[in-house]
Amino acid sequence: MPYERPNITELSAYVSGEQPTDGKTIKLNTNENPYPPSPKVLEAIAGVSGELLRKYPPPTAASFRRAAAEVHGVKPENVIATNAGDELLRLALTVFTDPQSDGRGIAVAEPTYSLYRVLAGIHGTPVYAEMLTDAFGLPEGWEGRLAQRPVGIAFVVNPHAPSGRLESIDRLAEVAGALQGRGILLVDEAYVDFAGRSALPLLDAKRGLDNVLILRTLSKGYGLAGLRFGYGLGHAGLIAAMDKARDSFNTDIVAQAAAEAAIRDQAYARSTWDRVIEQRGVMTQALQDRGFVVGRSESNFVLAQVPVGSVPAGEFYGRLKAAGILVRYFDQERLRDKLRITVGTPEQNRALLSAIDLILKPAKV
Ligand SMILES: *Cc1c(COP(=O)(O)O)cnc(C)c1O
Repeated sequence: MPYERPNITELSAYVSGEQPTDGKTIKLNTNENPYPPSPKVLEAIAGVSGELLRKYPPPTAASFRRAAAEVHGVKPENVIATNAGDELLRLALTVFTDPQSDGRGIAVAEPTYSLYRVLAGIHGTPVYAEMLTDAFGLPEGWEGRLAQRPVGIAFVVNPHAPSGRLESIDRLAEVAGALQGRGILLVDEAYVDFAGRSALPLLDAKRGLDNVLILRTLSKGYGLAGLRFGYGLGHAGLIAAMDKARDSFNTDIVAQAAAEAAIRDQAYARSTWDRVIEQRGVMTQALQDRGFVVGRSESNFVLAQVPVGSVPAGEFYGRLKAAGILVRYFDQERLRDKLRITVGTPEQNRALLSAIDLILKPAKV
């Protein structure tokens, strides 16, 4: 008999995008910012002394939380700092679902971030899954059905991954309203920096919602995927509950210093977002010109259906990889004929387009 719990034995682990270490591959597969973090971040890291490292870090990252509260116009008690977004998701599962006593599970609309299901598997939490609409919108009448099930958390990635579609604030408010008093709405805003708007207005007291939790991460918008720093924004009651269940020192002193410097330098971060957004438009058009079907994205990637009659998407992925360019291919319903391509620098994007041209129109011999 294995030593681990049966649900762990049965678990299919999360599969992350490839991370080659050859330094040559053009990586357009895991939605990192193509630009490095603010120089102030590197200064902050260099400024962490031996004396600071000797001691335990501030347990709740108080200084970072004050900075984030200022940036978002909320109070520090509305902010929890975590070891990137993924820890926030795990913490939310631990705190707001209850598989043992009342069966409170999670609700997802697929395709979505595959980690939600993995975390549910780890916790033994039931999953209520439906499909998104053809346009990757939330399912019709979803809120009505959520209200009838024991849902502790409804997860919505917004802008959506992997399509880049942005859901309206009013629709999100309806979902939260349907769950109020029983469960929370977790809006995963991993990519919000590249979008036109955030669901942050749902936290306004005048909305009367006390069950909205917003995920933010420094991994994408701030060019800090390697740092592992994220945070949650929500009603003080939700934050206080999660604060009880987190590891005593869940973020380290180096990460706290770097994260605060990053979030305080909004002008620098914004300049990288603007460049990515501009290139997103260029890439969308260039792919459409080549026969790909590309929807409107408010994120730092595009979801592109390969031209009908060319090469199947899985093979397209393989041929780009052979040419030294990694994109993401998901062998699953609704995504099997598409590639998810991270928007890179202008040079990376040009290299991608050249490789695509060679696949579509092989050079004559
Ligand atoms: C990247 C990502 C996250 C969080 O990633 P971290 O690096 O753990 O902060 C959360 N949700 C989605 C949809 C993501 O793509």
